[in-house]
Amino acid sequence: MKHSAIVVHDVSLCKMCQKRLGLKLKERSKDSETSCFICNGKLLSLKSLSNEIVTKLKDYEFETFLIGASVPHEILDNEDELRARFKIKGKDGIKSQITKMLSQEVRLATKKVVNYAKPDLTVLASLSENSISISLKSIWMSGRYVKLVRGLPQRSGDCPICTGLGCAQCNYRGRSADSVQSRISDYLTTVFSAEDCSFIWLGSEDEKSLVKGKGRLFFVEIIKPRKRFALNDKLVIKKNRQKRSRTFYRSREIQIKDLKMLDRRMADIPQFEIVARVILKKNSLANPLDQSEIQSLEDHFRNCLISVRLSRKFRTVEKGIRSIKVTSLEDGERMELEIHCDGGIPIKKLVTGQDGTVQPNLANFFSSRYEIDKAMPFDILDVEVKEGKEHSRKNRFSENSEAFESEFEE
Ligand SMILES: [Zn+2]
Ligand SMILES: [Zn+2]
Repeated sequence: MKHSAIVVHDVSLCKMCQKRLGLKLKERSKDSETSCFICNGKLLSLKSLSNEIVTKLKDYEFETFLIGASVPHEILDNEDELRARFKIKGKDGIKSQITKMLSQEVRLATKKVVNYAKPDLTVLASLSENSISISLKSIWMSGRYVKLVRGLPQRSGDCPICTGLGCAQCNYRGRSADSVQSRISDYLTTVFSAEDCSFIWLGSEDEKSLVKGKGRLFFVEIIKPRKRFALNDKLVIKKNRQKRSRTFYRSREIQIKDLKMLDRRMADIPQFEIVARVILKKNSLANPLDQSEIQSLEDHFRNCLISVRLSRKFRTVEKGIRSIKVTSLEDGERMELEIHCDGGIPIKKLVTGQDGTVQPNLANFFSSRYEIDKAMPFDILDVEVKEGKEHSRKNRFSENSEAFESEFEE
């Protein structure tokens, strides 16, 4: 709409500012490019700024991006003043011209796509401070872990030396050195060149427990991932072999299995069931449990409901037990319990009846005749997510939450 350009005099404007606002200078002064009343020549430096952005983005894997700009106040004020003076309406502001131009340049140089809703990364170009900052969208994944050794806690506590501040002892993480959490976190932060990981666990176990079978499910936020597509090849193969479990990482202590990308962070806790094994040792003078007592225990807990007082939530929830299978070992010197039940039942308290958290419990059946083997309090043989009911419960996760319900409680 060149014919509608307003001809102005006594202001100095660069070509880009003229074009954007539909203004035409009466006499273009020689140095109008660098003494532009609005941008003072800032728009001239956009090309070098976009080059700088493109160079920086070489360090990141992404498919989609968004560019934002912050512009000095005096530039915006000057533009407003000129708009008011010449009654200009319905034209792009300088900020949107800047982001459009930068986006265009970056798009052409990187062949990536602009996305306003959920970009993989966001570039903030500050013209006030001549700086570029890049923020990266987190990756959310689900996965499972198998634990093969006793003595490795699920979660990392605060480092006992620095209590979370970070010191040489904890390698400046602020957390105790070794746990399932630190192992998975190390693996994922390395693979994705990420800054950190934040976990949501589906239940938890004693540090002396093993986790077998398909493993325990967890959700993880991978924070600031630079190599977003690092696992894509492996994840695609996984998709093709729908049902087969796949191991992504294995060491002597743990395995990480069945990693999957999620569209967003989990909002609800999936319901799950576990199979746990407990070994009880007979006190030396006690009579062993006989077959009719075993039968009566098994009958009592077949498809029954129990109540569990949640220590963190100060309320009581109802949980189901499918079955408890009791096997007498070594003529009753030891008893093996195989407990198939809802997730989130504190297993030790179910067996011992300690502090009445779980009602009914197994205390009456064993009274003082048997006690839990302290070296191996209980093992998780399997964890099964209840199909179709994944989002049926209303409990919301909070960020980096403690496991809301746990098979482990002191
Ligand atoms: Zn200008
Ligand atoms: Zn420390």
